[in-house]
Amino acid sequence: MSFKEKGLLVVLSGPSGVGKGTVCKALRSRGTQLQYSISVTTRKPREGEIDGVHYFFKTRDQFQQMIRQEKLLEWAEYVGNCYGTPTDYVRKTLDEGQDVILEIEVQGALQVKRRFPEALFIFLAPPNLMELKKRIIGRGTETADLIESRMTVAKSEMELMQNYNYVVENDQVEKACDRIEAIVLAEHCRVDRL
Ligand code: 5GP
Repeated sequence: MSFKEKGLLVVLSGPSGVGKGTVCKALRSRGTQLQYSISVTTRKPREGEIDGVHYFFKTRDQFQQMIRQEKLLEWAEYVGNCYGTPTDYVRKTLDEGQDVILEIEVQGALQVKRRFPEALFIFLAPPNLMELKKRIIGRGTETADLIESRMTVAKSEMELMQNYNYVVENDQVEKACDRIEAIVLAEHCRVDRL
């Protein structure tokens, strides 16, 4: 029996505000064996965000150039800004046999599904949409208009859940992390992945 040497590509997606960032951070602080891909974005940094740590912050021209040079594994425009995953880091890390997690919105996740159907797709769902709105407002980083745009997007994003392998409700961060760790472990043990 030969075990697959390549790492597993894990896509954690779901509506903005559902807590993808918080869950990823919690997985990180647990020391979960996942490598975190840093995205590029044309969004301006929020207070406390550091270039190369939270995102690689780019101008629109720089972002367009990365698309033209096929440096992005997927990308999407989301509420007026572009976000994308640099291909090189993901390929290199998977080739080294390490698992990579992408924390991305749903349009990007669908692109990854077309290119890497063998990836593991986890949809992080809010307990309900009111809770989601409270979380976006509670974050205190968005204007009223942006909150409404994000809510409109979130409602249509919920309908895309059927494209994923698993759904994890983010009612409590630690519970969500337990479930994600269990799913990743189970995926590694699948007979058809050996
Ligand atoms: P935020 O502006 O709140 O940091 O992110 C907005 C949305 O963009 C979130 O849903 C986040 O998961 C998503 N996002 C972050 N990086 C990427 C990426 O590389 N690709 C895609 N498609 N979405 C991303």
